Amino acid sequence: MDQSIQSCIDHIAKDMRRREDRGQVAAYIPELARVDPNQFAISVTTAHGDCFDAGDVHTGFSAQSITKVFTLAIALGRSGDQLWHRVGKEPSGNAFNSIVQLEKENGRPRNPFVNAGAIVTTDEVLAGRAPKQALAEIVGFVRAAAEDSDIHINENVAQSELAHGDRNFALAHFLAAHDNLRNAPEMTLGTYFHQCAIELTTRQLALAGRFLMNAKTGSKLVSPSRVRRMNALMLTCGHYDGSGDFAYRVGLPAKSGVGGGILAIVPGIASIAVWSPGLDRNGNSKLGTEALERLAHEMEWSVF
Ligand code: GLN
Repeated sequence: MDQSIQSCIDHIAKDMRRREDRGQVAAYIPELARVDPNQFAISVTTAHGDCFDAGDVHTGFSAQSITKVFTLAIALGRSGDQLWHRVGKEPSGNAFNSIVQLEKENGRPRNPFVNAGAIVTTDEVLAGRAPKQALAEIVGFVRAAAEDSDIHINENVAQSELAHGDRNFALAHFLAAHDNLRNAPEMTLGTYFHQCAIELTTRQLALAGRFLMNAKTGSKLVSPSRVRRMNALMLTCGHYDGSGDFAYRVGLPAKSGVGGGILAIVPGIASIAVWSPGLDRNGNSKLGTEALERLAHEMEWSVF
């Protein structure tokens, strides 16, 4: 299997380098709009502990919404099922930063992966502490999961989003109006923007994703039942309004971010991270999705 993984991702990376239609980089966060779209990287780490990389694997990228998976794990660890009073578990069928649904549904976000839902889970992790402490816990979780202390927040990206975060401010204030925010909106959002600005390589992300790989044993970080449930949420909600299409094409639980990264889990077998900055219309990496579709097909990896 090992040889076929390496040759498969080598072929994919070579093909992706040549592609002209690469999607659009996220323009609403100016620091992300400057990223060169001609980049592509993929890393696979297996349950046996082997790692395989291809492409621009030494370049760090902005994890953005992929960090919502780690924050969810921490929020569930702190609050257990109480969290579900504040946020739902249903696919949204709307854009990741949609406001209209939040208004219709009285300030309870559809799921923890749309922005409003992630603002709630970040608020839960913050729990009256200084943002610095909550961020130390979130970054600490990612480092522990990856077993790599060289993972940091890119302050420029955080500030760039803070300066252009009107939509997220609207969502946070809306949550507050519905009594679904425990900390000041500015404080929760500052924490949220910094969490989204965690930067890592595909190798680091694939390693960090291992805690979701084994639903039989769980991991040092989360219990087996939580691993199963988090994977279920990633499959149904991890790609926003493109979650159904992603499940159809790739067949694996996964979480995307507007930095162009995707973390995908092959339960019991592998954790995969892919990165290409250009996005499709739902805000998911265009070539990243194509790469995962091909890898899953060639390796016959699917949860179905
Ligand atoms: N920080 C981004 C935002 O709040 C994350 C969105 C994403 O990656 N889909 O808009």
